[in-house]
Amino acid sequence: MRALASDHGGPPAVELDGVSKRYGSATAVADVSVSIRDGEFFTLVGPSGCGKTTTLRLIAGFETPTTGTVRFAGEDVRGVGPEDRNVGVVFQNYALFEHMSVAENVAYGLKFADPPRGLSRNERVAELLELVDLEGLGDRDPTALSGGQQQRVSIARALAPDPALLLLDEPMSALDARLRQRLRREIRSIQTELGVTTVYVTHDQAEALAVSDRVAVLSEGRVEQVGDPESLYRRPRSRFVAEFVGENNLFDGTAAAGAMSDTTTVRVGEASFEIAADADGDVTFCVRPGAFDPAASHNRIEARVLDSEFLGETTRVRLGWADHRLVVSLPAPPDSETLTVGFDPRDAWVIG
Ligand code: ATP
Repeated sequence: MRALASDHGGPPAVELDGVSKRYGSATAVADVSVSIRDGEFFTLVGPSGCGKTTTLRLIAGFETPTTGTVRFAGEDVRGVGPEDRNVGVVFQNYALFEHMSVAENVAYGLKFADPPRGLSRNERVAELLELVDLEGLGDRDPTALSGGQQQRVSIARALAPDPALLLLDEPMSALDARLRQRLRREIRSIQTELGVTTVYVTHDQAEALAVSDRVAVLSEGRVEQVGDPESLYRRPRSRFVAEFVGENNLFDGTAAAGAMSDTTTVRVGEASFEIAADADGDVTFCVRPGAFDPAASHNRIEARVLDSEFLGETTRVRLGWADHRLVVSLPAPPDSETLTVGFDPRDAWVIG
């Protein structure tokens, strides 16, 4: 079970209030306002260049906003340097010192701060190595560790002074897929155990959904939507979020009165769909690949099978219908060149 972030009703742990960052004429971050709760695992996700790293660097204090305010627990931190913000930062390239042992690298995190709870430096280092599952490896050279182990050393180093805030910038991008999945579970479990407020940057939307309490989806420096993983997936508010978070099928049409009392009829080209939503005029709705079903009685369309990928549990099938490309997820590969599928009116979600 995931521990829920405590929301004491006090000021947010971190607040970005109308924050922009410009470099000359380029805008990296544009009027971002988000509140990160105490103890929360909060993720910034978006495609390359959307401003994730810049936002994290603004929180860490490596950058200063061009406009707007960053607050920690209600206090404006303008003018407070990174070393005085009580943050631990983990970078994608580990940034370990090769001439120091693993234990010395972790102890380096205590260079500007005393260990917490009256512990000696050695006790604190031992405690952290155990936390990240590297006990007994303190004397090793960091180059004699795997990529995943090296990243755990840099997490231990960032946590050494018991920071109020842990910032992670694409910490797993150098690792292979299987290791990434393992390490993300470990990071989440360490975060839950310590209850440390965490801001995590990734371009991988599946990773964001898997680990976060809440996620901010960024596009071109702006926040598109903030929400818990399920609401982002089920109730995207923009076309960008609908297409970026998970796979989706979008339909642009025109709404008319519903054939059934609790549905709306939407004309899409030559076809009509019944969707369980109030809509008027031009409307865009989306249907997830898993909602399509050959046995569904509503919204049936006959489509051409373009190709299919057998994924084990499911088969991902690309279909051509009118001028649309659709992706549907079926229990087994189709055995013909055309396929009729439908979806329940309640599985359509209107965007915007
Ligand atoms: P990626 O996933 O590729 O790391 P990102 O979402 O983290 O991307 P940022 O690194 O925050 O994006 O960059 C946002 C935009 O700001 C990009 O267009 C980038 O080129 C620009 N940018 C970032 N830092 C600087 C800088 N120091 N000088 C000029 N432009 C910058």
